[in-house]
Amino acid sequence: MKEALRHILVLGDQLNRSVEPLVSAVPESSRVLMIESAALAGALPHHKQKLVLVFSAMRHFARELEADGFEVDYRQCEDFEDGVVEYLSDYDGATLEVMRPTDWGYEERLREAADAAGGSLEVVDNGLWLTADEDFDSWAEDRKSLRLEYFYREERKRRGWLMEGDEPAGGEWNYDKKNRETPDDGHDFPDPPRFEPDELTQSVMEEVEERFPDHFGDLEDFAWPVTRDDALEALNDFVENRLAGFGPYEDAIVDEEPILYHSLLSVPLNLGLLTAEDVCERALERWREGDDVPIQSIEGFIRQILGWREFMRHIYRMKMPEIREANGLGHDLSLPGAYWGGKTDMRCIQRSVGQLQRTGHTHHIQRLMILGNFALIARVDPRELNEWFLGCYVDALDWVVTPNVMGMSQFADLGSFTSKPYAASANYVNKMSDYCGECRYDPKQSVGADACPLNSLYWAFIDHHAERWSSNHRMALMLRNWERREEEDRSEILAKAETVREALADGGV
Ligand SMILES: Cc1cc2nc3c(=O)[nH]c(=O)nc-3n(C[C@H](O)[C@H](O)[C@H](O)COP(=O)(O)OP(=O)(O)OC[C@H]3O[C@@H](n4cnc5c(N)ncnc54)[C@H](O)[C@@H]3O)c2cc1C
Ligand code: SF4
Repeated sequence: MKEALRHILVLGDQLNRSVEPLVSAVPESSRVLMIESAALAGALPHHKQKLVLVFSAMRHFARELEADGFEVDYRQCEDFEDGVVEYLSDYDGATLEVMRPTDWGYEERLREAADAAGGSLEVVDNGLWLTADEDFDSWAEDRKSLRLEYFYREERKRRGWLMEGDEPAGGEWNYDKKNRETPDDGHDFPDPPRFEPDELTQSVMEEVEERFPDHFGDLEDFAWPVTRDDALEALNDFVENRLAGFGPYEDAIVDEEPILYHSLLSVPLNLGLLTAEDVCERALERWREGDDVPIQSIEGFIRQILGWREFMRHIYRMKMPEIREANGLGHDLSLPGAYWGGKTDMRCIQRSVGQLQRTGHTHHIQRLMILGNFALIARVDPRELNEWFLGCYVDALDWVVTPNVMGMSQFADLGSFTSKPYAASANYVNKMSDYCGECRYDPKQSVGADACPLNSLYWAFIDHHAERWSSNHRMALMLRNWERREEEDRSEILAKAETVREALADGGV
């Protein structure tokens, strides 16, 4: 008997054949729908490399399916919903199967579009993730505070990863304190592989340059993985050459070394080219088979993926849509032009934004402690910053950007899953990076023409929210330090901070 035709919708962040619905699909009896939405691409001034990455990966994926005998209906539409409606109108009353979308509101929008076209939607669990919604929800139920550490321990136990019986491997759950080494001058960092654009990617590059000439970022340096094979090569290269150094230098910043030992795997993970399980299993295998990967490296890496990545997705699921609009600290400065490449003498900002323009990526500490921190202590409207992060990074998707920016970085949710804001003065940047040595500003001064803007902004941030910090035990010490200073010093620093904020509103520093 001939099998009934299956209609499968593949979203741009679900490019994977090892999970449902594609894993059980037979080419002869399945049609695959893929949709590029012009409205989504143009909704923000997305980094040109991000547009190339997503379109090229989708088109490569469609080609691979076709090569394996699938009939792929690849549509370029104004709106995503248009594509669904048009497709279902062609297949009267069909049921469209799709893996559960991660970004908020998508499932509903798809359902409405399917209904409007007289069809229906069948949603299957999203097998790209490691943890189940029900497990997180029952863990979170009745908890006063949601903290990564306890969720992460539960998931380690559930999976048996890095466990020796009931105990964590090496005796500790978390080796965070061993993730903060600074590399010596001249430290030799391994180069990650580059994936030079093939013909298809080159044609997408030309198209993006033509359609979106004013978008942020440059295309020349594009070297991201766009296929499953590329992604596996990227994973393999990371576990063989950088995993061992990942732990010790995880928090470091080196001006001339944009990658250090980071994996760059957020890109293939967020496209679905790799599952989180692929990545973790391969890293664990490498750790087990050699004796050169220290525990702080494998634990630090598993914590990022089984811990932070999964945790953030669940936080997003729980806190949307409120978290996207949150501004609990009432910050109102417009995003300084330096974030869009405008002139600034602040070397840490200028170098991080420059790297972002060239590659569409900066590592975590630059995101959190350079770009996020500056916006936080300058009291930038967090919603504007969120949009900026969403547009400017190649690995940006709403589910991951919004909790990281609004929660972790900007404290706009007033700490619904963090205990304090990640706020720092130039002291931190000077200690953890080599930016300050060549900067026009002096990291040790708070007032005067050469003073680093971060210092006065930091203290003004503490002062501005003094009442709030007085009841936050992790901020109270800084507040006491501030209040212990001479009245005259404080006034001078606050006046300097106001001058800096005015200059930021006006053009830059
Ligand atoms: C303000 C801010 C914005 C961010 N924006 C994004 C974003 O747009 N897309 C994105 O994938 N991540 C984002 N992150 C999280 C993290 O910075 C990136 O995942 C990481 O820098 C990607 O580079 P990598 O693959 O080399 O990571 P590695 O340092 O090698 O880490 C390994 C993996 O762990 C995961 N991971 C680590 N930290 C986090 C985290 N906090 N949340 C979710 N996953 C995490 C990522 O999948 C990453 O690939 C953001 C963090 C902050 C503070
Ligand atoms: S002195 Fe200040 S502005 Fe300059 S690099 Fe250091 S922290 Fe950044």
